[in-house]
Amino acid sequence: MPTGMLSIRQALDLMLPHFPVLGSESVPLTQAYGRVLAQDVKVTIELPPFDHSAMDGYALRAADVRAGQAMSVSAEIRAGGSPQPLAAESSARIFTGAPLPPGADAVIMQENAERQGDRVTFSTLPSPGAHVRKRGSDHALGSTLVAAGVELGPAELGLLASQGLTQLSVHRQPRVAILPTGDELRALDAPRRPFSIVDSNTYTLAAALQQAGCVPVPLSIATDDPGVIAARVEQGLAADALLTVGGVSVGEYDFVSESLQAAGVAIQFHKVAIKPGKPLLFGKRGETPVLGLPGNPASALVVFEIFVRPGLLRMRGLRSVHPQPIEVVLSSGYAHKPGRTEFVRARVHYQAGVWTAAAHSNQSSGSVGSLSGKSALVIVPRERGDVQAGEILQAILTGLPMRPDPAFAD
Ligand code: AMP
Ligand code: MG
Repeated sequence: MPTGMLSIRQALDLMLPHFPVLGSESVPLTQAYGRVLAQDVKVTIELPPFDHSAMDGYALRAADVRAGQAMSVSAEIRAGGSPQPLAAESSARIFTGAPLPPGADAVIMQENAERQGDRVTFSTLPSPGAHVRKRGSDHALGSTLVAAGVELGPAELGLLASQGLTQLSVHRQPRVAILPTGDELRALDAPRRPFSIVDSNTYTLAAALQQAGCVPVPLSIATDDPGVIAARVEQGLAADALLTVGGVSVGEYDFVSESLQAAGVAIQFHKVAIKPGKPLLFGKRGETPVLGLPGNPASALVVFEIFVRPGLLRMRGLRSVHPQPIEVVLSSGYAHKPGRTEFVRARVHYQAGVWTAAAHSNQSSGSVGSLSGKSALVIVPRERGDVQAGEILQAILTGLPMRPDPAFAD
C-alpha cells in the first residue's frame, strides 16, 4: 500500500483497473434506454432500405425533362405503395417516403411544378439524384450501426429499432450496496430520538447511483461497532460494488477500515489529497471493489463525482468515464492552502460565451445545501495558494442550468 497522501491522479490510476466491466444480458429494446451496448450491431437492413423520395413532387428521369415542355403524369405512388416501372418520357406523382419507380432517377418538388390534368410542366431542370434518398446511403449493409460501449439514447434506440431488433445485448447494470455507519444515525422512517440525525446520505447516494445508471442496494444502518459493521460488509459484498459511508476517518469510533480488513477486504489506499473527501478508502475482495466514503454529505458527493462514478461507469462498459471540466472565471477570490486539490462548490452563470463561477459562502463539508440546484465544482489545483477574482479555473458542472423561456435567435 503506498504511503502518504496520494494525488487524485495516482488514486484513480490505482483503483480504476479494479472495476471489472460487467457481463452482458439481453433486454427488450423498450427497456434499453440508458443501457450500454455490449456488442457491435451491424446493418442487416440498409438505411434507407430502398430508393425513395425526400419530397412531395414528381419522379422522373432527369434527362427526359425539357424546360417549359409539359410531361405526362403516368402514375401515382404513395408511401407504402409498390411502384411499376416508369413509362418512357413520363413522370409519376410521388409523395415523401414513397419508393422511386424503376427507371426514375430524380424528383422535382411540387413547388416547382405546374399541374394541368394529367400533364405537368416544371420550372426547374433536375440533376440526377435530386431529392432521392438512395438505398443504403445513410448506413450500408454490413457496416457498424451502433458500436459496443455506446450508451443508448434516443438516436441509438431509433437506429436499432430500424433493424427490427426487439432484444438488445447490453452490459449488466452494477448493483451497488450502500452501507451507512454511525451511532447517531436513524432510519428515514424511525422515530426521532435525542441527538440523532436521519441517515440522509443513503438517499443522496442512491440518487447519484441512479443518475450513473446503477441499481442502488441500501443496507440497514450499522452502529459504530466493528462486529456489526463487518457483518453488514459481508452482506454488501454480495453486490457488484460496496460503498460504506462514515466511520472512515481517524477518530476513536471510526471502525470501517478495520472491519473491512476483518471481512477480508484488501485495502489498496486510505486518504487522498482532495478537499473535501480526504479520508477516502479503496479496497477489494475478489472482484468486488469497496469504497469507504466519508460521512459528511458534501464530502461523500464530491468523492462520488470524482472517484465512484468513473469506476461504476467502467463497470457499465463505458469508455469515457471522467467528468469533462469547463473553464470558468471566478467572480471573487478564494482562500486556499497548498496541499490538497480542492473542489469549491459554486453557482455558475453563462453569458456571452463565458462561464462565471461564484463560490458558495458555506464550504463546510457537512453542508449539502451548497450542492443543491444546478451548480459546479471549481477545481483549485493542489499546489495553489489563494486564488483571485478574475482568474480562470477548471470546473465540473454538476447539472446544466436551464432557462425558463426559449433563447434561440430566429
Ligand atoms: P464520519 O465520517 O462518520 O466521521 O461522519 C462525519 C459527519 O457526517 C458526522 O457529522 C456524521 O453525523 C455525518 N454523517 C455520517 N453518516 C451520515 C449519513 N449516512 N447521513 C447523514 N449524515 C451522516
Ligand atoms: Mg461516524
